[in-house]
Amino acid sequence: MEDAVREGIFSLNHRSSEFVSILKSAVNGLKQKLHIPESYEVYFISSATECWEIIAESFIQEQSAHIFNGAFGQKWFLNTGKLGCQTESFQYKKDQIPLTNSWQISPKSDLICITHNETSNGTYFPQAMIAELKTQYPDKLIAVDATSSMAGINLDFALGDIWFSSVQKCFGLPTGMAIMVCSPKAIERGLTLQNDIHYNGFINLHHNALKSQTTHTPNTMNIYLLHRVMENVPSIIEIDKTIRKRAKEWYKFLEDFTQIGSLVENDRCRSQTVIAVQADENMLNKIKNEARQQDILLGRGYGEWLNKTFRIANFPAIHESEIIKLKNFLHQFK
Ligand SMILES: *Cc1c(COP(=O)(O)O)cnc(C)c1O
Repeated sequence: MEDAVREGIFSLNHRSSEFVSILKSAVNGLKQKLHIPESYEVYFISSATECWEIIAESFIQEQSAHIFNGAFGQKWFLNTGKLGCQTESFQYKKDQIPLTNSWQISPKSDLICITHNETSNGTYFPQAMIAELKTQYPDKLIAVDATSSMAGINLDFALGDIWFSSVQKCFGLPTGMAIMVCSPKAIERGLTLQNDIHYNGFINLHHNALKSQTTHTPNTMNIYLLHRVMENVPSIIEIDKTIRKRAKEWYKFLEDFTQIGSLVENDRCRSQTVIAVQADENMLNKIKNEARQQDILLGRGYGEWLNKTFRIANFPAIHESEIIKLKNFLHQFK
């Protein structure tokens, strides 16, 4: 951030050649470090929530199908319906492996929505299942909310058509920006649907992205930071390994407790990046109060799990020393 101030980022016109080259570098760095296929395009938007809306406005021809087991997937489904799209939903339980062949997605649905990492309950949707959906429904677009896994987990972007993530989670950047990544198939669909009513309609987004620009004045600070972070982080293959190792250690650590434990029992459903810890309400209050006194800010529960869980972010920017501090703190509740 100090470098950004020194380099005068705050004074740059976002359509100036200086800023265009920063944005280009952010996109190239992102594609290189996250292994995004060359033919895919990257767009800068303001939030994952905005992306739900962009998808409803610019990519759904007739109907969308939503597969989910928690609050974020459900919100996406409900928001899409509110925006006037026809929707159908397929819900499953948090400890259940999503069995794609047991669902009959309607021929009317031209887009399938999946939440790769359900941040509310600490589960994930296996990429092998996304591959199965792609084989079963080759003509439909697949949109993946990877808000709490992109830049932490090695994603096979070729499996999906629209991927998105806000930068405040695994990217470790300040809030207020999100990234949308589209396949050539999604780009073609978005351009065919001809939504140019909304400022964030796909046609507008795409024509600006081709010039390494944005529809409106973007979060220039965050684009600059993304460009710098992408220069400095290792390849996603390496980050993925670290995250999986740390997750394994967290779940193992939790096995030794009697009053708290992993919310997700089936280890094949457990998220690698968000660890949801279950406790009864008294215990949870005790832990929260103690943590506050020791200057530890615990991630609270979400939605239906608000008062029954806290969540541990297993994001790449978290230091080993912080993990040790939290583990030492939690020991007293054994
Ligand atoms: C955090 C989160 C969102 C919402 O992100 P915003 O940046 O607040 O729009 C959406 N989906 C998932 C899976 C999330 O974890």
